[in-house]
Amino acid sequence: MNDLSNLSLEVTACHKCNLSSTRKKAVPGMGPFDSEVIFVGEAPGRTEDEEGKPFVGTAGKILSEALEFAGLDRSSVYITNVVKCRPPNNRRPSKEEKESCSNYLKKEFEIIKPKIICILGNTAYGSLLDGNEITKNRGKMIKRGDQWYFITIHPAAVIYNPELKQVLKDDLKVLAQKLESKIS
Ligand code: SF4
Repeated sequence: MNDLSNLSLEVTACHKCNLSSTRKKAVPGMGPFDSEVIFVGEAPGRTEDEEGKPFVGTAGKILSEALEFAGLDRSSVYITNVVKCRPPNNRRPSKEEKESCSNYLKKEFEIIKPKIICILGNTAYGSLLDGNEITKNRGKMIKRGDQWYFITIHPAAVIYNPELKQVLKDDLKVLAQKLESKIS
């Protein structure tokens, strides 16, 4: 069994924070170990909680559409969240919940060593880069240490504001171009 499979089993059995008492299924990240990019969202929603897979609900369909537009094959990218269990009523995860879960995300980065980490929305932006105001900062590449990050909106934002769908698509096209380029 490889490191990602072991990590996935660890997440599935985790009870490190109170979200384990309300979830149906924990939702480990999903994708190949040699992915060049990791997408990081906020937390699983209702459909993800039922299926135990990331980004399979409405926001997931929007992400798939944007990936296709950008020429990125969803099966070749790794997709995960800041917290791996659904917060009740889709509330934002608390600081304590994010801290409890942070080691899993760190391990995903260590195993996969992505060329770019793609931040989806404010929660991931705040957790990973201490950022905020995603709408002002989206579309940018940022380097911290040796790691490149690309910042864009969370696909769920499109549900509430359909005009953002093209913004997400265009951002992912830029991301795809960056992946093709010589950044390392
Ligand atoms: S959210 Fe993370 S830390 Fe909390 S129970 Fe789920 S996997 Fe464990």
